[in-house]
Amino acid sequence: MNRFPSVSRRVFLKTSSLTSAAAIARDFSFQRLLAADAPQASLEPDAAPSWTDRPMRWAQLTLVEDDPGKFDPQFWLDYFKRTRSDAVCLSAGGCVAYYPTQVPFHHRSQWLGDQDAFGDLVAGCRKLGMVVLARTDPHATYDDVHDAHPDWIAVDASGQPRRHWASPELWVTCGLGPYNFEFMTEVKREIMSRYKVDAIFINRWDGSGMCYCEHCRKHFKEASGLELPLANDPQDPARRAYLLWRQQRLFDLWRLWDREVRKINPNACVIPNTGGGATSSLDMKKIGERAPTLIADRQARRGLAAPWANGKNGKEFRATMGRKPIVGIFSVGLEEPYRWKDSVQSEAEIRLWVADGVANGLRPWFTKFSGVLHDERWLKSVERIYQRLARWEKYLRNQSPLARTGLVYSQQTAWFYGGDRAGAKVEDHTLGWYQALIEARIPFEMVHDRLLDAAHLHQFKTLILPNIAALSDAQCRQLREYVTRGGSLIATYETSLYDQWGVKRKDFGLSDLFCVSFTGRVEGPMHNAYLRLEHDSARGHPLLKGLENTPRIIHGVWRLEVEAREKFPDPPLTLIPGYPDLPMEKVYPRVTKTDIAQVFLREIKTPLTPSLSPSDGERVAGRPGEGRVVYFPWDIDRTFWEVLCVDHFKLLRNAVEWAANEEPPVMVTGPGVLDVTVWRQKDSMTVHLVNLTNPMMMKGPIRELIPVGPQKVRVRLPDGVRAGRVHLLAADRTPHIERSGQHISLTVPSILDHEIVAIDL
Ligand SMILES: [Zn+2]
Repeated sequence: MNRFPSVSRRVFLKTSSLTSAAAIARDFSFQRLLAADAPQASLEPDAAPSWTDRPMRWAQLTLVEDDPGKFDPQFWLDYFKRTRSDAVCLSAGGCVAYYPTQVPFHHRSQWLGDQDAFGDLVAGCRKLGMVVLARTDPHATYDDVHDAHPDWIAVDASGQPRRHWASPELWVTCGLGPYNFEFMTEVKREIMSRYKVDAIFINRWDGSGMCYCEHCRKHFKEASGLELPLANDPQDPARRAYLLWRQQRLFDLWRLWDREVRKINPNACVIPNTGGGATSSLDMKKIGERAPTLIADRQARRGLAAPWANGKNGKEFRATMGRKPIVGIFSVGLEEPYRWKDSVQSEAEIRLWVADGVANGLRPWFTKFSGVLHDERWLKSVERIYQRLARWEKYLRNQSPLARTGLVYSQQTAWFYGGDRAGAKVEDHTLGWYQALIEARIPFEMVHDRLLDAAHLHQFKTLILPNIAALSDAQCRQLREYVTRGGSLIATYETSLYDQWGVKRKDFGLSDLFCVSFTGRVEGPMHNAYLRLEHDSARGHPLLKGLENTPRIIHGVWRLEVEAREKFPDPPLTLIPGYPDLPMEKVYPRVTKTDIAQVFLREIKTPLTPSLSPSDGERVAGRPGEGRVVYFPWDIDRTFWEVLCVDHFKLLRNAVEWAANEEPPVMVTGPGVLDVTVWRQKDSMTVHLVNLTNPMMMKGPIRELIPVGPQKVRVRLPDGVRAGRVHLLAADRTPHIERSGQHISLTVPSILDHEIVAIDL
């Protein structure tokens, strides 16, 4: 039986004789390739299993091979109960089977004997009424498999089968060939048949880097007519085709596994460990369409990272998953590159990480490796966190976020424009905006760049495009329509200067919106360049709020030369070109004033898209004629992330306030750094205040939580509702409320890590 779906072959067949980038770009239709037009696509709209929205607190126990007979299952069952965990993920098979498997080459734990460690845990968790997931991990295997099925092993670019990097007695498996498509399918069938679990969670299922095995070479050649690429150059047609072909393979695999487990248990599914932001490799739009629920796997901080990184992960998933439940894995240990998997970090660090995830719509999932604990300090920490969240559960069942600002992320920009440098060229722009929005306490959501239709944008008054360089003509049209409907747009640097394949345009795709054209010249990296604040001509300009006594501020690092397509009178920011920074005697500006504008602000009074039908008016973000556009032809956001200059922060904040031109849904004033999110539930709304104020804010782990307060909170209620009881959930007290029209105001005296203002409606 041919288990290899042929969709990728059909899609790619026509391109087999084409090699030029342009030809590939023409023929590899991004939309078509990712559109799941395969016969199996009939599985796509399968109903979500009925349990998916139930669990709010997840537990994961990943057994190690010598656990059976050594660890105490009852200890874990008691802990699940004490933490009020209502769902669990348990090790079943793949690399090690923890049950008496009959699948040939499925390696039973050497310590298993005649036990069924997995089955015993499943039975115990069922008695507790928990949702149960079986975990499989197919990424490594053994000598007997290598000898019997050498083609199941991953191969490196030089043609050598790959030993496992951390456990050299093992082999790395190929994620895109028969090991997964055949062997792991049998394993899943067996697990589902025996245990009827609610889902199978598939960890490290998508291969471990590029594989050059015979199957990968053959299938890729059939699909694209090309050889597998050796380098990560997104302008190489083979690389570009590979990025898409790999996804096609993985979606086929996901579909196959899902279909097979649903045949055995129609109320089950497979849940791949996948997804993320711009730099993740599988298309989030398609993931969002397929998955009934997902697990965001960003377990803790590493290196330079703010605690809001957990919330960001939640926002990225929600951008394409909408209201489907999203769970956030957190580790009780450190997550640095040296992988101390048995470590325990401070309670303060764990608390803040979880709090920011919860505030951003993630349901928590603690993960622990090894049934025998080497350090038990985390147990009480997680117990306290979960018990508190259980008390708050009613107010954590969110229906929709009420943010009015959207921060766009773009996987195609990361893949085809960023390539190897996507971190610096793409993600750092986003991180700069993210930090600025947090500091400005502006509630916001993230938006996927392939979901720019009216239905997905109608909740937003303002969209931010942080160097979203690669945009198709169709995406540019959607953005134009959004502005015509009254939405506002803020864009930076090379936004829309490339098409969806990362091929550079002569001019911005959004040139008409910006009212600015690219002249062809990029300057940078600039040293010692500045911006002149034009108070004389632009006095009192809202963009310069908080900078009134400031004659000039630092510039960014990269800028585009542009020319305005019509006159922008009195630009608030102009260029002071860079000048020598050494020797010190030479450090004086050669040019102190230019008329080269470094920001372009427009009010869109007349429709850009006259054909827009009036029925779209129901989904208008603002009112037509109220759209505003801000364009910075330089890397203000990326530079802000690198330098964190407060002057840049003020420009970014002021740009959002000017573009929005409306009162935000919630205003919080007081000391410190807070992540502010605002949500609607069935009969209530909530404002989450996560206190990020800490000397270890930008790099953990946090030693102690430091309270901040008081915070004045002013909430704009949704139209047509009245506030009933208002409660501060963490403080467990009822604050004094002032009401005025659709607003309520109150003071939160102090926030330790996480406070929730819960407003019954
Ligand atoms: Zn392979």
